[in-house]
Amino acid sequence: MDETLYGTRDRRGHFKPKEPARPAPLFAWPPRPVALLRWLPHYFLPWNLFFLATAAAVWAFALPEVEAVARLEWGWVLRLLLVNALLVLLLFGLFELRLYVRRAQGIRFKYNPEFPSDRKNPAFAFGRQDVDNALRTFGLGVPIWTAWEAIVLHAFAAGWVPWVSFAQSPWYLIGLAVLLRLFHEAHFYCIHRLIHTPFLYKWVHSVHHNSVNPSPWSSLSMHPVELLLYFSTAALHLMVPSHPLLAIYQLHIAGLGAVVGHIGFDRIELGRKTAVPTEAFVHYLHHKYFEVNYADGLVPFDRWFGTWHDGSPEAEARMQARYRARKERAKANAAAAGGASGAA
Ligand SMILES: [Zn+2]
Ligand SMILES: [Zn+2]
Repeated sequence: MDETLYGTRDRRGHFKPKEPARPAPLFAWPPRPVALLRWLPHYFLPWNLFFLATAAAVWAFALPEVEAVARLEWGWVLRLLLVNALLVLLLFGLFELRLYVRRAQGIRFKYNPEFPSDRKNPAFAFGRQDVDNALRTFGLGVPIWTAWEAIVLHAFAAGWVPWVSFAQSPWYLIGLAVLLRLFHEAHFYCIHRLIHTPFLYKWVHSVHHNSVNPSPWSSLSMHPVELLLYFSTAALHLMVPSHPLLAIYQLHIAGLGAVVGHIGFDRIELGRKTAVPTEAFVHYLHHKYFEVNYADGLVPFDRWFGTWHDGSPEAEARMQARYRARKERAKANAAAAGGASGAA
């Protein structure tokens, strides 16, 4: 399919969608009711509804009776681990296989014109990004996600936290379910800002950013401390009355949803004439420039705090101005410190 219908490539061959990324009109001021109504289906489709479906499948088929979950036993926890690993293998693996192994659409719609390099890179286990990322995903990502899931489900089953039933308060639970994606964004923004502070970046978050040109396996390729923080989003259900299904949904938004920003392609071709958008651009720019787009644009945190990058030349200029101002501040501070020590 002709990618120039939807975007352009710069001199270095990097693809950019024609339309700059836009934060969801949810918090637009002044309000834009028509834009909001038009956008609303995208809040649910395709991803949030898909994660709700996978969560419902786990809730219905992969878990034993409540009495068994009330006993923290290896059997059901291991089964949950296996189911989560299988979901990741199917979803991430499908994207990886089609787009990166088979390279079914070449670099059409691929932001970075290069595929992750096959050359040995000492930053990665066994020198390879794909092997390192997959090992981290299945060896750390999925187990830490499952550990949080098991703790929260056990807390519900053992009666440690209030379990609201759908029969009892359907509208409360529906309202909570709708808000969970927004909560995920707020939680992710906070922990993401935190791990970009110099000490935590160096020792924790740099592991994720080693994949400068990410692929689907990079999604959950993180340091264990980052994974513990990332999946702590499920702790919400230990604090507000909820339902176990919603806790599983919350973890699927985080665990399976991580792939969305790491697909690396702006669109996925389905046949010759159709290419569906992926929503990967905003987080791709985070991997490219590091200090922009800490959130995904659903809640405009980056706009509010001056770190939004929509891919436009204006955003590029704003980012460069911010870096220059920071450098000058550092220079001035160093000069002042030098002057003070000289005077002492
Ligand atoms: Zn990332
Ligand atoms: Zn980051």
